Amino acid sequence: MIDPANTGLGHRQVQRRNLPDGWAISARPAHPGLVSEADFIAVQHIHAPRGSPDPNRSYLLAGLLRCGVCGRRMESCWANNRAAYRCRHGHTSAAKTDPDRPKNLYIREDSVLRHLKSLWVRLFEPEPAPSTAEVVNHLRAQEITLTYDRQSRTL
Ligand SMILES: [Zn+2]
Repeated sequence: MIDPANTGLGHRQVQRRNLPDGWAISARPAHPGLVSEADFIAVQHIHAPRGSPDPNRSYLLAGLLRCGVCGRRMESCWANNRAAYRCRHGHTSAAKTDPDRPKNLYIREDSVLRHLKSLWVRLFEPEPAPSTAEVVNHLRAQEITLTYDRQSRTL
Protein backbone atom coordinates (compact mmCIF):
# COMPACT_ATOMS: atom_id res chain seq x y z
CA MET A 1 0.00 0.00 0.00
CA ILE A 2 1.22 3.48 -0.76
CA ASP A 3 -0.13 4.62 2.58
CA PRO A 4 -1.69 2.24 5.12
CA ALA A 5 -3.53 5.21 6.60
CA ASN A 6 -4.99 6.28 3.28
CA THR A 7 -6.34 3.54 1.04
CA GLY A 8 -7.32 6.12 -1.54
CA LEU A 9 -3.71 6.27 -2.63
CA GLY A 10 -3.92 2.65 -3.69
CA HIS A 11 -1.18 0.10 -4.07
CA ARG A 12 2.16 -0.03 -5.73
CA GLN A 13 4.13 -2.95 -7.05
CA VAL A 14 5.87 -4.85 -4.29
CA GLN A 15 8.84 -7.11 -4.70
CA ARG A 16 7.74 -10.67 -4.08
CA ARG A 17 10.10 -12.22 -1.66
CA ASN A 18 9.90 -15.05 0.80
CA LEU A 19 7.15 -16.60 -1.25
CA PRO A 20 6.41 -19.65 0.85
CA ASP A 21 7.58 -22.90 -0.67
CA GLY A 22 4.87 -25.44 -1.18
CA TRP A 23 2.18 -22.86 -0.73
CA ALA A 24 -1.08 -24.49 -1.71
CA ILE A 25 -4.01 -22.35 -2.65
CA SER A 26 -7.31 -24.07 -3.16
CA ALA A 27 -10.02 -22.51 -5.25
CA ARG A 28 -12.50 -23.05 -2.48
CA PRO A 29 -12.10 -23.70 1.23
CA ALA A 30 -10.99 -27.31 1.68
CA HIS A 31 -12.98 -27.53 4.87
CA PRO A 32 -15.00 -25.17 6.99
CA GLY A 33 -12.93 -22.82 9.16
CA LEU A 34 -12.25 -24.44 12.50
CA VAL A 35 -12.56 -21.19 14.39
CA SER A 36 -14.15 -17.89 13.58
CA GLU A 37 -11.98 -14.83 13.24
CA ALA A 38 -13.46 -13.49 16.46
CA ASP A 39 -12.47 -16.68 18.28
CA PHE A 40 -9.03 -16.51 16.75
CA ILE A 41 -8.52 -13.00 17.98
CA ALA A 42 -9.91 -13.88 21.40
CA VAL A 43 -7.54 -16.82 21.71
CA GLN A 44 -4.56 -14.57 21.05
CA HIS A 45 -4.98 -13.27 24.56
CA ILE A 46 -4.25 -16.75 25.89
CA HIS A 47 -0.99 -16.80 24.00
CA ALA A 48 0.14 -13.42 25.29
CA PRO A 49 3.74 -13.74 26.45
CA ARG A 50 4.07 -14.99 30.00
CA GLY A 51 5.14 -12.35 32.41
CA SER A 52 3.82 -9.62 30.16
CA PRO A 53 2.89 -6.64 32.31
CA ASP A 54 -0.76 -6.70 31.35
CA PRO A 55 -2.39 -9.98 30.29
CA ASN A 56 -5.17 -8.04 28.58
CA ARG A 57 -2.72 -6.62 26.10
CA SER A 58 -2.20 -8.75 23.06
CA TYR A 59 -0.12 -8.16 20.00
CA LEU A 60 -1.34 -10.03 16.95
CA LEU A 61 1.67 -8.99 14.90
CA ALA A 62 4.41 -9.41 17.49
CA GLY A 63 7.60 -10.43 15.72
CA LEU A 64 6.09 -10.04 12.26
CA LEU A 65 7.01 -6.42 11.55
CA ARG A 66 10.42 -5.11 10.63
CA CYS A 67 11.74 -1.57 10.69
CA GLY A 68 12.41 -0.12 7.24
CA VAL A 69 15.11 2.13 8.69
CA CYS A 70 17.38 -0.41 10.37
CA GLY A 71 15.82 -3.81 9.59
CA ARG A 72 15.32 -4.79 13.21
CA ARG A 73 12.13 -6.47 14.33
CA MET A 74 9.78 -3.87 15.68
CA GLU A 75 8.95 -4.19 19.35
CA SER A 76 5.46 -4.31 20.73
CA CYS A 77 4.36 -1.29 22.68
CA TRP A 78 1.09 -0.24 24.20
CA ALA A 79 0.01 3.33 23.58
CA ASN A 80 -3.34 5.06 24.01
CA ASN A 81 -5.03 1.74 24.83
CA ARG A 82 -3.96 0.23 21.53
CA ALA A 83 -1.40 -2.27 20.42
CA ALA A 84 1.36 -0.66 18.40
CA TYR A 85 4.89 -1.39 17.28
CA ARG A 86 7.98 0.72 17.42
CA CYS A 87 11.66 0.63 16.65
CA ARG A 88 14.31 2.65 18.38
CA HIS A 89 16.93 1.36 15.94
CA GLY A 90 18.98 -0.27 18.66
CA HIS A 91 19.14 2.80 20.85
CA THR A 92 17.97 2.67 24.42
CA SER A 93 16.58 5.52 26.43
CA ALA A 94 19.74 5.37 28.57
CA ALA A 95 21.97 6.06 25.58
CA LYS A 96 23.36 9.51 25.05
CA THR A 97 21.20 11.56 22.75
CA ASP A 98 22.61 11.54 19.26
CA PRO A 99 21.40 14.39 17.04
CA ASP A 100 21.86 12.19 13.95
CA ARG A 101 19.83 9.37 15.40
CA PRO A 102 16.81 8.58 13.21
CA LYS A 103 13.45 9.23 14.76
CA ASN A 104 11.75 6.24 16.34
CA LEU A 105 9.55 4.34 13.92
CA TYR A 106 6.03 3.81 15.15
CA ILE A 107 2.94 2.19 13.67
CA ARG A 108 -0.39 1.25 15.18
CA GLU A 109 -1.48 -2.37 14.94
CA ASP A 110 -4.95 -1.57 13.66
CA SER A 111 -3.54 0.43 10.77
CA VAL A 112 -1.64 -2.68 9.67
CA LEU A 113 -4.45 -5.17 10.32
CA ARG A 114 -6.91 -3.10 8.32
CA HIS A 115 -4.87 -3.67 5.18
CA LEU A 116 -3.34 -7.08 5.77
CA LYS A 117 -5.90 -8.97 3.72
CA SER A 118 -5.61 -6.71 0.70
CA LEU A 119 -1.83 -6.84 0.91
CA TRP A 120 -1.98 -10.63 0.92
CA VAL A 121 -4.42 -10.79 -1.94
CA ARG A 122 -2.17 -8.44 -3.88
CA LEU A 123 0.90 -10.60 -3.28
CA PHE A 124 -0.53 -14.08 -3.66
CA GLU A 125 -3.83 -13.60 -5.45
CA PRO A 126 -5.53 -16.26 -3.37
CA GLU A 127 -9.12 -17.14 -4.13
CA PRO A 128 -11.09 -16.80 -1.96
CA ALA A 129 -9.40 -14.06 0.04
CA PRO A 130 -8.21 -15.25 3.45
CA SER A 131 -9.37 -13.70 6.66
CA THR A 132 -7.05 -11.36 8.53
CA ALA A 133 -6.58 -14.11 11.10
CA GLU A 134 -5.56 -16.58 8.40
CA VAL A 135 -3.07 -14.10 7.01
CA VAL A 136 -1.51 -13.64 10.45
CA ASN A 137 -1.35 -17.42 10.88
CA HIS A 138 0.34 -17.89 7.53
CA LEU A 139 2.85 -15.13 8.25
CA ARG A 140 3.80 -16.86 11.49
CA ALA A 141 3.85 -20.36 10.03
CA GLN A 142 6.03 -19.32 7.11
CA GLU A 143 8.16 -16.96 9.21
CA ILE A 144 7.43 -14.05 6.90
CA THR A 145 8.06 -10.58 8.23
CA LEU A 146 6.65 -7.34 6.85
CA THR A 147 8.89 -4.30 6.66
CA TYR A 148 7.33 -0.94 7.32
CA ASP A 149 8.95 1.91 5.43
CA ARG A 150 8.29 5.30 6.91
CA GLN A 151 9.34 7.36 3.92
CA SER A 152 6.94 5.72 1.50
CA ARG A 153 4.60 4.55 4.29
CA THR A 154 4.40 1.13 2.74
CA LEU A 155 4.45 -2.40 4.06
ZN1 LIG B 1 14.79 0.63 13.30
